[in-house]
Amino acid sequence: MQDVLDELRAYVTWAGDSGLQNLASPSRPELDSQNQNQNHSQNHNQNENENENPTPTQNVKLPTLESVRADLGDCTRCKLHKGRHNIVFGVGNPRARLMFVGEAPGEDEDLQGFPFVGKAGQLLTKMIEAMGLERGDVYIANTVKCRPPNNRNPEPDELESCEPFLKGQLAAVRPEVIVTLGKFAAQSLLRDATPITRLRGQWRQYEGIPVIPTFHPAYLLRSPGEKGKVWEDLKQVMKKLGLKQ
Ligand code: SF4
Repeated sequence: MQDVLDELRAYVTWAGDSGLQNLASPSRPELDSQNQNQNHSQNHNQNENENENPTPTQNVKLPTLESVRADLGDCTRCKLHKGRHNIVFGVGNPRARLMFVGEAPGEDEDLQGFPFVGKAGQLLTKMIEAMGLERGDVYIANTVKCRPPNNRNPEPDELESCEPFLKGQLAAVRPEVIVTLGKFAAQSLLRDATPITRLRGQWRQYEGIPVIPTFHPAYLLRSPGEKGKVWEDLKQVMKKLGLKQ
């Protein structure tokens, strides 16, 4: 039942925060209470017709990535839209069990329209592969979808404007684990100004989803000696997801 409540809470929070209109996505059969103890992958494959004990939550229309992207549109909700080449929405498996959340698009991402495609992104891909996964197995997004000028940190009003769409992505994908990359993503997602050196490797929660902050791949490029700490964090994720270590 906790899983169902978490999913419903994530949706309600997203819908309430976003004030968005395009919520007419297909209902998600995996809310079947009969399957609440099955793993995420099994849930995603559940056939709605098999449900013999529908719960009230089955009538909830959860967002899809497509509906969230449609609501985002050609967004001008904050000033970051002025300098962007592309909105960098997110990429990956819409049924991912693992979601990475970074800070904001950089230059390469802004030009290509995809997150983590520069050198830091290549290192992230290696991190994912070291876990025995492929990049296409996970979902990758940022706290804001447009590149801040000169790669500065996003400002509070920009985060506030863009956060409903990250929440929408989380409500659509419903990962079992979120890994935040770097100080800014962790602090903004968790509303916690604790330094990343202390947040790192500690399990937290966001909308009922386990979150583990770790260092940003760009930081690892500058400080390769810290890779071991990130690997320890990723091993915790592998353990939680039941991946072979
Ligand atoms: Fe819209 Fe987010 Fe881009 Fe701001 S950062 S313009 S809210 S998509």
